[in-house]
Amino acid sequence: MTENEIMLSLGQFAKGAKKAETKDTKLAVMYTRVSSKEQSENLSLDVQSQAIRNYAERNGYSILESYGGTYESAKNEERVEFQKMMEYVRRNKKSISAILLYSMDRFSRSGANAIYLSDQLRKQGTQIIAVTQPTNTYEPSGELHQNIMLVFSHFDNQQRRAKTIAGMAEKVRRGYWVSIAPKGYKYCGTKEKKLVHSEVAPLIKRAFEMKARGGFTNVEISHKLKLLGLNIKHKSLSKIFCNVTYIGYLSHALLDGEIIKGKHEPIIDEELFFQVNKLKRVIKKRIKETEANEFVPLKNFIQCPKCKIKRLTGYEVSRRRGNWYYKCSTKGCKINVNVNQMHNTFYELLKSFTIKPSSVPEVKKKLRDMMMSFYTEQLNDEQRLIKELNKHKKKIDVLDERFAYGEIEKDLYKKVASKEKKAIAAVEKELLMLKPNSIPNMDQGINEALALAQSIHTLWLDGDVYQKRRLQKVIFPKGLVFRQQDKSLEPIEVEKTLFAINNLNQ
Ligand SMILES: [Zn+2]
Repeated sequence: MTENEIMLSLGQFAKGAKKAETKDTKLAVMYTRVSSKEQSENLSLDVQSQAIRNYAERNGYSILESYGGTYESAKNEERVEFQKMMEYVRRNKKSISAILLYSMDRFSRSGANAIYLSDQLRKQGTQIIAVTQPTNTYEPSGELHQNIMLVFSHFDNQQRRAKTIAGMAEKVRRGYWVSIAPKGYKYCGTKEKKLVHSEVAPLIKRAFEMKARGGFTNVEISHKLKLLGLNIKHKSLSKIFCNVTYIGYLSHALLDGEIIKGKHEPIIDEELFFQVNKLKRVIKKRIKETEANEFVPLKNFIQCPKCKIKRLTGYEVSRRRGNWYYKCSTKGCKINVNVNQMHNTFYELLKSFTIKPSSVPEVKKKLRDMMMSFYTEQLNDEQRLIKELNKHKKKIDVLDERFAYGEIEKDLYKKVASKEKKAIAAVEKELLMLKPNSIPNMDQGINEALALAQSIHTLWLDGDVYQKRRLQKVIFPKGLVFRQQDKSLEPIEVEKTLFAINNLNQ
């Protein structure tokens, strides 16, 4: 595929792509971020900011503010820094023409949200520039490329998260609590982070005792605890009363409904717990709630066509199982759609976004060609630098030889050799900064994106209610509108990369 052909095939993305106004002065902010692994692998904050400053100088940007400088482990700090920057850019949207980053994955690892943000920025005329991955977001093709880069970062992040979650699940299975310590407990400072009783543990016990004795409402118990120095809202109390952590067990979403013995000391005994809960009833009620959700995965996801604001919820109409409907809760709306009908319509909609296995090789080639064309420039730079590197190395070889044959003095040899060595170091550093860290993952990223694009409809059908909800939210971030006239579903927005892949498929 020639460059012209690529541009031609990308022409279809031009529709609706607004060209941002070019700003008179080129002012920018810079954002850096690093993972601990990268810090030790020479992709330090210094290397990043140096690369950004070099780019700014070459391309006539003046850097007004620097943000970030955080480590990936400091999630909260990173979020705060990122928001600070976005706030600054929003406030100064008339003057800031670019956010400069080392690479696109610095911008945000949240995929869909990053695409949304970059879209918003683009509309106000602020470009996101990854200095090691040249793209021009004013061009539709650049936009597509950028979206793909962001999605790849997202996939990468998902994989990491899957690993973290697996690690957490394993820890819970060994009996350790992993999230915020429940009221009455705190973490003790050991490596395993075991839960121990906190100062308010006796008050938690007191709350259980009051509840078991009867005659107190949760509001009254909450009030009483406040007088004793413990602030708990009455709504939180009802959660506390059925939390098995207090009798020395663990229940966690990662355990898939299982309850296991924890490594921590109970605050109350089981008898008191059962007395408070009359356990059977509680468990039964919970199971019913989950079942309800399973039957209506699209609950609160589809906009009501009449009142526009409300989302459709799910109701079981008949006493016999299986008669579920999506309805609007507004009086007089009378929207009432059988779940089977709605789910079929949704399934067909998903299917329309699926690419056929037979067209996968072609789409894959187009995607790959497109990505590669963006890297060509960078690869050329790399080749130029390697040539330069070899030139210096050769000079040193010649120098060594001449010195060995006594053709030059030691002082001169030392002087020239150190000059050459410095030059080599400089070129090597430049090469290192040039190395695009996304290329090795490119095929993997493309494969994953395409695998998803081939199987969304079956993934949705086969998934449990949580997987269904997660998937539908990714594909249609803003939900759907139900069209009453033809009983169809219309997406408010489609996940951009999927949309792009679909366009490549045409
Ligand atoms: Zn309605």
